[in-house]
Amino acid sequence: MKKSFILLFSLLFIQNIISQTTYILCGKLVDTKSGKIESKKTILVEKTKIIDVMDGYIMPKGANLIDLRDKVVMPGLIDMHVHLEMEYDNKTQIRKYITDEADIAYNSVKFAETTLLNGFTTVRDLGGTGVNISLRNAINAGKIPGPRVFTAGKSIATTGGHADPTNGSSRKLIGNPGPKEGVVNSVEDAKKAVRQRYKNGADCIKITATGGVLSVAKSGDNPQFTIEEVKAICDMAKDYGMHVAAHAHGDVGMQRAIIGGVKTIEHGTYMSDKTMDLMIKHDAYLVPTITAGKEVAEKAKVKGFYPEIVVPKALAVGPQIQGTFGRAYKKGVGIAFGTDAGVFKHGVNGKEFGFMVEAGMPAIETLQSATITNAMLLKMDDEIGQIKKGFIADIIAVNDDPTKKIETMENVVFVMKEGKVYKK
Ligand SMILES: [Zn+2]
Repeated sequence: MKKSFILLFSLLFIQNIISQTTYILCGKLVDTKSGKIESKKTILVEKTKIIDVMDGYIMPKGANLIDLRDKVVMPGLIDMHVHLEMEYDNKTQIRKYITDEADIAYNSVKFAETTLLNGFTTVRDLGGTGVNISLRNAINAGKIPGPRVFTAGKSIATTGGHADPTNGSSRKLIGNPGPKEGVVNSVEDAKKAVRQRYKNGADCIKITATGGVLSVAKSGDNPQFTIEEVKAICDMAKDYGMHVAAHAHGDVGMQRAIIGGVKTIEHGTYMSDKTMDLMIKHDAYLVPTITAGKEVAEKAKVKGFYPEIVVPKALAVGPQIQGTFGRAYKKGVGIAFGTDAGVFKHGVNGKEFGFMVEAGMPAIETLQSATITNAMLLKMDDEIGQIKKGFIADIIAVNDDPTKKIETMENVVFVMKEGKVYKK
């Protein structure tokens, strides 16, 4: 009597486990840690976590199965440079005067979902109006679908610099933006701007260390911060547990940013060999954004797409980025996958893989850059970036082996984030 009761109880218990567990059958599975692609594996997912990864196909009777036996499965991708609040087009310049934060918010909901459905389960948002903080909160609370967001809130610039929000405005609209709005002109301002971002709820800090392509200003590459200002920002950010990302095209501004203590250099267009050595020495990472470079160079040829002052910058900077990335990779600079989506259409982030391979980085390393490297930079390397027991169930799949056909990364066919399926 007692024995049969225990047996019945254990059977019910096992059945309960089976029904709570999702079994994902993987034809191929990318091991981002070892860089190997394994065959015939089963991932066991329970609630938000991966509870086991087993050899062969495990299919208990009555279990919740996801059949990806003809797919290549890998961890959710991480893009270190997106702008979820915007998608640049020929009306972007005027739009800032005719849209409210609520309009921006509604648009960003769609951009976030598109990003997730294309395999990016985590992103770092490097600057908007601050709506991106509310967007992150809404996604985290499960109110809307989107990737896990680490946001810089509003970027920090200097007066007239890239990301000064009143650049290109008429004089009566220029006003006097300060640290609160993300414009600093001294060490004291710099400290205040970081503290303000912490107060606003940012996860990291973005500075615009040099001129930029899309700002309504003449130079796309001049240095725009003093080394003391950069250092003050980085030191202050460290106190609040945040890292600093620096937009930089020109070499001088880039050097100041690296010496000042930033963790990532975005774009890196005119990076000299000397600066690459400096990157290695200071353990700073390059976020390539090759797709953005290619897209702006292309759009600059369309008459009226960009304001006139932007066109020569886009034509000069755009085509340089891929070559610089190739040189930096070969020299041994750490590479953190990032696209600058928002400067171009959201959802095509996967194109970047092909551009990286074209410039000389092996396909498997591009995947590692978009998973384990970025997870490490976001201090989440024991939670995301690998398909491993105990990790968060961020899992995606593509049709082909990316080491043989990298374009497959532009067509993600399965997306699971935190154990929930968003695309199948
Ligand atoms: Zn950007």
